[in-house]
Amino acid sequence: MNTPDNEKRHELTEKEYHIAVFICSHVFEKTSPILYVCKDDDEFQFLCAGLHYGDERPRIVGLGHMVDSDKSILDILHIANGEEAERGSVAEEWTIRKMAE
Ligand SMILES: [Zn+2]
Repeated sequence: MNTPDNEKRHELTEKEYHIAVFICSHVFEKTSPILYVCKDDDEFQFLCAGLHYGDERPRIVGLGHMVDSDKSILDILHIANGEEAERGSVAEEWTIRKMAE
């Protein structure tokens, strides 16, 4: 689902809607907003800004469900493998950068 340019996506295809993504328990339980997204090996992780301990068990959900609950995710789905997107709050813009090695 890489796009050759940085065009923002506004809709998911049926296939993209069902892509499995990893999310932390806080995002899963909707106790925290998504403030950090990274992509590696074509897999997305959506995390809150909180701490995630070793016993944190990531949940797996369909990408479409995440977009349904937070449309701003559409703005960062074009990130490449090895990139991450972060924002200070849901009211702020995403900052995209390469992940630290
Ligand atoms: Zn979390």
